[in-house]
Amino acid sequence: MEWENNSLQFAAHSGTLCPEPVTVMRILVVEDETDLQRALARALRDEGYAVDTAANGEDGLFNAENTDYDAVILDVMLPKLDGWEILKRLRKSKKTPVLMLTARDTSRDRVRGLDTGADDYVVKPFDLPELLARLRALIRRSANKTTNEIEIGDVTIDTAAKKISRAGAPVELTAREYALVEYLAVHRGEVVTRTTLYEHLFDEDDSTLSNLLDVHVSNVRKKLGAEFIATRRGLGYCIE
Ligand code: CA
Repeated sequence: MEWENNSLQFAAHSGTLCPEPVTVMRILVVEDETDLQRALARALRDEGYAVDTAANGEDGLFNAENTDYDAVILDVMLPKLDGWEILKRLRKSKKTPVLMLTARDTSRDRVRGLDTGADDYVVKPFDLPELLARLRALIRRSANKTTNEIEIGDVTIDTAAKKISRAGAPVELTAREYALVEYLAVHRGEVVTRTTLYEHLFDEDDSTLSNLLDVHVSNVRKKLGAEFIATRRGLGYCIE
């Protein structure tokens, strides 16, 4: 196996059994009130985020357009360009999650924000733990939207590309093996009956041997590990 990442290599050499790359979320804070900007940046860094700041609309838009942030915290009232304008222009090129800081809680502002493409908003003065919680939720939602990957142990299923890898290495599956894995993975934790799998995997006029499902399960186990699909005797199959 080839290591592509220095931190992974370091972790492996230092004896860590399951090295995981450290992913730091990068946040942009666009806020012209110095005290608030500092307080926000400090709180975010305490939470482990990397933080960039901008104190006016032009700088904020420039940063947001030129860096792939995990989220942007965007004040509405800003010098040079206001938050609405930044959001409108940013949405032409990027889907970065944006949390708006609005001064007024009027339904007009809410509608405007959501129409312009804000993902969430917090009304000033806000409660810091609430803002942090909303930010986490925002990042989580956007991650679910943009990745089509299901991870199960060291197996990654890319449901968009219909590809599977194990410990980073591609695994070749037939179309039916893939369909079997994807179906069980999407219903992870549930016992899926043999009948359901037959309905899902085979055409009605498919008159192949009745034990074919077992063959597919057996092949998948050879490729992804014996424990990957559990048999629930008399019930069906399950991915834990
Ligand atoms: Ca402001």
